[in-house]
Amino acid sequence: MGKLDGKIALITGGSEGIGLAIAQRFIVEGAEHVFITGRRQEMLDEAVKRIDTANVTGVQGDVSNMEDLDKLYHVIQKEKKRLDIVVANAGISLVAPLELITEKQFDDTFDINVKGVLFTVQKALPILVDGASIILIGSVSSIKGHPSASVYSASKAAIRSFARCWSVDLKQRNIRVNTLSPGTIKTGMLKYVASSESIKTTFIKDLIATVPMNRFGTPDEVATAAVFLASDDSSYITGIELFMDGGRGQI
Ligand code: NDP
Repeated sequence: MGKLDGKIALITGGSEGIGLAIAQRFIVEGAEHVFITGRRQEMLDEAVKRIDTANVTGVQGDVSNMEDLDKLYHVIQKEKKRLDIVVANAGISLVAPLELITEKQFDDTFDINVKGVLFTVQKALPILVDGASIILIGSVSSIKGHPSASVYSASKAAIRSFARCWSVDLKQRNIRVNTLSPGTIKTGMLKYVASSESIKTTFIKDLIATVPMNRFGTPDEVATAAVFLASDDSSYITGIELFMDGGRGQI
């Protein structure tokens, strides 16, 4: 028996990295159906092929675009009519020195990482069942001072506040809301952190030096924590932030 038997889940940004690992694990744990989203259709098609089951649907769209979100929920309504789990995972990173941050970089980061999460959850409300679990993917960056990461870190700090407030807002409906905050995880996101290979190598070396466990985490390890927060194993846990960061938040 799986921990998520019969559950229907939405994972935004499920076409690669952490989101894809969570989708794969949810299916292994018995989820009845998993909807994944992403902006690039070809990545979604590839992901659906990799998960290799009829129980996954890829829906193309941008979480910061309200029409795309409406289209997504239309598909879910039509196919399944309800949701047990929402993982608001879609997000982008930004590494930019304070003097060079542009208005567009700020807007793009907050549009996707903050506005996208808010409206993903708001638009899910009509079809979330009693006992549903909402997981917001934050980041250990929100509690660490890391060079040139201020905009990204601030966007992820907003996620923690969302989860704390929404856990109270939604308690009458018996819906739990938690933040899952990874440390540095080996995914495609790392390719965006720097413009040149040499800066990237230094950045990554410096980053590993800040992790007590002396390595990056894997998407699979994050998926394990997501199953915990999505399942009845965490039935008395709401409003928390679970760090999955090799101890990085502790030092
Ligand atoms: P990846 O870049 O590997 O994957 C991101 C996924 O999100 C892709 O499927 C991407 O598809 C999708 N996505 C990005 N922007 C949007 C958008 N606007 N609308 C819909 N889908 C979108 O990232 P990770 O797996 O590493 O990151 C996932 C989450 O984990 C993010 O929220 C990130 O901030 C967080 N995180 C990651 C850490 C890490 O070290 N990797 C550490 C801490 C937190 P597409 O580009 O086609 O839209």
